[in-house]
Amino acid sequence: MKTMRLPHDSHSLPPEEVVPFRDAESGASGVIVLHSTALGPAAGGCRFWHYTSDQDAVVDALRLAEGMALKNALADLPFGGGKAVLRSPERPHDRAALFRAFGRVVRELKGRYVTAEDVGTGVADMEVVAGETRHVAGLPPRDGRPGGDPSPWTALGVVQAMRVAVRHRLDAELSDVTVAVQGLGHVGFALCELLHGMGAKLIVAEPRSEVAARAADRFGAMVMSSKALLSARADVFAPCALGGVLDAEAVAQLRARVVCGAANNQLADADLAVRLAERDVLYAPDFLVNAGGIINVAGEHLGWNASEVRRRVMGVGQRMKTTLALAAREGMTPHEAARTIAMDRMAQARRVEAVAA
Ligand code: NAD
Repeated sequence: MKTMRLPHDSHSLPPEEVVPFRDAESGASGVIVLHSTALGPAAGGCRFWHYTSDQDAVVDALRLAEGMALKNALADLPFGGGKAVLRSPERPHDRAALFRAFGRVVRELKGRYVTAEDVGTGVADMEVVAGETRHVAGLPPRDGRPGGDPSPWTALGVVQAMRVAVRHRLDAELSDVTVAVQGLGHVGFALCELLHGMGAKLIVAEPRSEVAARAADRFGAMVMSSKALLSARADVFAPCALGGVLDAEAVAQLRARVVCGAANNQLADADLAVRLAERDVLYAPDFLVNAGGIINVAGEHLGWNASEVRRRVMGVGQRMKTTLALAAREGMTPHEAARTIAMDRMAQARRVEAVAA
């Protein structure tokens, strides 16, 4: 296995290690990025996706791994941050063989990286990985313990952050607002279910028309195209599809006063957090909002019970409050404030490590 070690600097957040891999027999290729191990093993899921080049896969993994480091630190988990991307081969392939090869790469990292599912991967894939390494979570739950699909926990965390954001920016409760949910996958649909139960009105966009129709039927949701959703008459925009949805054009079109959703890396460019604040939109940082899933994954790996996982996921609301308070005090955007809290936590762990060494 070829390993690349890179210098570490707490301000510019370069990754600690980049591990490209290729297995000729199965056709598996991709990269694992260990962004930071300051707080513990680098934890973050494995994405299985079509990338046009190795370079695109590395760039995506670097970005996602940094997000995981911030997310895990902010959620107060004893984990650093990492991410794997496995390239979906163009030619016909044996999916299980790909994930076995990936599992062997994870095993060689000897616990410095813990994987789980992400976009394009599921519980069945992680069971294959578990045949090669024990450094994997997202396996079926056993004996009422945390495990399995983390999406309902992610949705629960999003609701906690959204409640705080809506009170802060709109002086309203979730029962008073209209939420535009983009993407009705694992998290988006569960989020609609929770919001509907709390009395919120819903507008949804989802390319799978039968799923959108189900949301209309079950939640009385209005269905729109994804593009139209940005300028819909909604109080909250909840991105729950893929990342990069908030580019300059989308920010200019956005009508909602609060953005709070599950998608990773919602901002196409970090500077857009400032642009959103200038437009008086409260952007709830994605890596704070969507921590519920990784909290469940951590609980599974560390042997917590379900009520401990729940307590920690409910804590997303308190973290949102703390972040908004720091942002107000220091004149920062919430995005910058959340990043500052996470980076301070990592820097502190590194200082403790340095003193102990
Ligand atoms: P998913 O693949 O189950 O759902 C994504 C949904 O978005 C699909 O239904 C898809 O059809 C839809 N979609 C795709 N393009 C769209 C578009 N242009 N407009 C509207 N809908 C579109 O994924 P998921 O597990 O629900 O995760 C959603 C997002 O949340 C991802 O960005 C993921 O990285 C992030 N996230 C998920 C979790 C989790 O626990 N699953 C945790 C943290 C972050």
